[in-house]
Amino acid sequence: MKNSALVVVDMLYDFIDGSLACHNSDSAVAQTLKYIDSQTKGQGGEEHEILDTFPILFIRDHHPADHSSFKEQGGIWPSHCVAGTHGGEIHHDLQPYVNEELTFDKGCDRATEQYSGYEGVNNAGQSLGEVLELLDATDIYVCGIATEYCVRNTCEDLLKAGFKVHLLKDCLAYVDHEGHVKALEEMKAEGIEIE
Ligand SMILES: [Zn+2]
Repeated sequence: MKNSALVVVDMLYDFIDGSLACHNSDSAVAQTLKYIDSQTKGQGGEEHEILDTFPILFIRDHHPADHSSFKEQGGIWPSHCVAGTHGGEIHHDLQPYVNEELTFDKGCDRATEQYSGYEGVNNAGQSLGEVLELLDATDIYVCGIATEYCVRNTCEDLLKAGFKVHLLKDCLAYVDHEGHVKALEEMKAEGIEIE
């Protein structure tokens, strides 16, 4: 699809089957792979070809071991997604699509909570918004974990920045089902397309 890109938020082991495991994670990963397949089919699977036609960008929650959002530090979450641990890795099945320059880390600073992937930066120090503009992407498809927190914040920031945002509802996992449904309704009312 021309001028579009996929942003995969926090499909990391701690959110899938680790310390902060979310509902529907396995299905969300499987559906995401199916979606990627449907968008990249017939392009030979060569990395550069896929990236040229339908860039896939990954967001990673990426914390120091003493991050302020952790319960031991007075935060509300169990320890999760510590940089360099298995829990902070992107799901194995998605690895073939991961490109360092299109991977954006957030929550790296001890004192700052960052739910939004929009605040993430890649290894060259570029922000998600900057890279989406360089890619000429105007329509951003979003999937990931968790609907109510990092997915929602990412979608809302993209919308505020002027992108058209499409949320892939089958490719989401969540902390709480009711919260998930409510977040979808509210995002729809804000102008995010639920697909
Ligand atoms: Zn976190």
